Amino acid sequence: MFKIKPFEDCVFELSKLPGIGKKTAMRLALFLLNKELPDIERLASSLLNLKKNTKICKRCYGVSEDDVCGICGDAHRKKDIICVVEEPKDVFVIESTGRFEGLYHVLGGKIAPLDDIGPDKLRIKELIERVEKEAVNEVILATNPDIEGETTAIYIRKKLSHINNLLITRIASGIPIGSHLEYADEVTILKSLENRRAMI
Ligand SMILES: [Zn+2]
Repeated sequence: MFKIKPFEDCVFELSKLPGIGKKTAMRLALFLLNKELPDIERLASSLLNLKKNTKICKRCYGVSEDDVCGICGDAHRKKDIICVVEEPKDVFVIESTGRFEGLYHVLGGKIAPLDDIGPDKLRIKELIERVEKEAVNEVILATNPDIEGETTAIYIRKKLSHINNLLITRIASGIPIGSHLEYADEVTILKSLENRRAMI
């Protein structure tokens, strides 16, 4: 069988990426093969940089260049509002609206019993500690509007119920049920944040 090992290796690695099947991986590998060496070097070094020079913010658990991310360290952000999201990518999505002025808390997923992800595998305990220690007035639950995301929001709502004078809100359902934040446009995200409702 006709095989070129460097090409096969590249296709194999690319096909591990989300949404990239074998055919697309082959197309990408051929595309890269036709690029100039400096272009490939820039791509390779940006991938290495991404991994070596980013870490998880120790306060919000989002992606950061330092121990504490630029959002948590920004003196102009409203420290009394925490927006709870599932994944670091959701922070980028909400930040793209340029209108949210509070802080974030990244859970690292959502409660999904079928995938064996219980509340203890998420950063819910850390969220509760933050809210207990910091002067937080509002927690916005911005988990995705699917079954697991709703379950997670309801669970966190219960876990925070002992804290007095805390407003707990849920993003409005401008985002279609079963859909994800990352696929919504900026206006939809903005509306769902602005029209958030208190969870009773
Ligand atoms: Zn942070």
